Amino acid sequence: MGRAPRGRRGDPYPVASVGIWTTTGSSATRTWSGRLVGSGVVTDDEGDLGITPDEKDWTWVLTRQCPECGLDVRTIDAQVVADQLRVNAGQWPEVLRRPDVSRRPDSATWSPLEYACHVRDVFHRYDQRLLLILTEDNPLFPNWDQDETAIRQRYNEQDPAVVATELVAAGAQLARRFEGVRGAQWQRPGRRSDGANFTVDTFARYLLHDPVHHLYDVTR
Ligand SMILES: [Zn+2]
Repeated sequence: MGRAPRGRRGDPYPVASVGIWTTTGSSATRTWSGRLVGSGVVTDDEGDLGITPDEKDWTWVLTRQCPECGLDVRTIDAQVVADQLRVNAGQWPEVLRRPDVSRRPDSATWSPLEYACHVRDVFHRYDQRLLLILTEDNPLFPNWDQDETAIRQRYNEQDPAVVATELVAAGAQLARRFEGVRGAQWQRPGRRSDGANFTVDTFARYLLHDPVHHLYDVTR
């Protein structure tokens, strides 16, 4: 997954927010109607607004419900991940129109703008990884230092309107790539540099948690 959502250091996990997956009509499409918003850890202890690298392995989200955002990806059919990505991406432009979008709620949490830039880049990165899985034999994903990226690309100085457009487009691109996955392709394997192993199926469900959790971060 991309930069994982995380609570502020020392904080207990907050009570999971309530969210509901509903089935619409006769289709298998489920819609997350809960609050879609995790908290990120940035630090400016030195006054430099640096970001503390996230060392957590968030693959646990594949085996239990997230105690923060409430999403349980075990209940998600990978085939609906494309739709869910579009639903998620479509909620970020409103967040990005906030006048205080670049304001960090506290010194240890990313601003909504920084979260949005991160989600946009997660969509990009995972689209590249999905292409790798679909075209190579059990590929090893290139490492991605998401915290370093946030600093180098000056996330909090980017134009929110541009980020909104880029995020929606990146989400749509990734959704389209998932929609092209057929049959046995869902079981194609890929590996992360830390040794975590995925199939397209687990990759899809694992990935979905990231933008969902970050939307929870910025709207709770
Ligand atoms: Zn979560």
